[in-house]
Amino acid sequence: MTTTTIGVLALQGAFREHVKILRNLGIAAEEVRKPDQLNGLNGLIIPGGESTSMALIAERWGMIEPLRRWVHSGRPTWGTCAGMILLAEQATGQKQGGQALIGGLDVTVNRNYFGRQVDSFEIELTVKAFGDHPFHAVFIRAPAITAVAPHVEVLAEIQPAGDSNQVAVAARQGTILATAFHPELTQDHRWHQMFAEMVS
Ligand code: GLN
Repeated sequence: MTTTTIGVLALQGAFREHVKILRNLGIAAEEVRKPDQLNGLNGLIIPGGESTSMALIAERWGMIEPLRRWVHSGRPTWGTCAGMILLAEQATGQKQGGQALIGGLDVTVNRNYFGRQVDSFEIELTVKAFGDHPFHAVFIRAPAITAVAPHVEVLAEIQPAGDSNQVAVAARQGTILATAFHPELTQDHRWHQMFAEMVS
């Protein structure tokens, strides 16, 4: 029998919460800090936190290139919040000089899209894949996806107050899943289950 093991990038941010949920779901989970720890994993979660710090630490630990190879070779990867920013092909609203992105997801994200308005908020999010039961989504200084390539599937959108446009807050492209909010901070594990299905 082969077991599925999902790694959680543990350089900075909310990695412990993801590990805990995966283990509660009966999925083997490993914290990942070094390139060789990617070997043997079936999927990887890049958590929320602070994308600039996470990218700097990843550079220092020699993780950027191995992560790019991981994502571009089609291994299942889920980025939440800061993790979603790092998976984007393009980011706006970055700090001066920008930051290294891992890329792979053909979208443009705005790093602090909601943070400009209010630091954090929670909403009942309609997610087509989840049917009639909305997902209670926690947004913390959250990014949004402001442009998507045609082959990216938008899984959830919201219309910010005072904004005439909807922005995407969850998307999928092949083996890549991205959420602008923090599913690891609530007791509803449907996103973790969705990712586990992508992995197996
Ligand atoms: N906006 C933050 C960033 O730039 C992400 C916030 C989060 O992960 N909660 O990294």
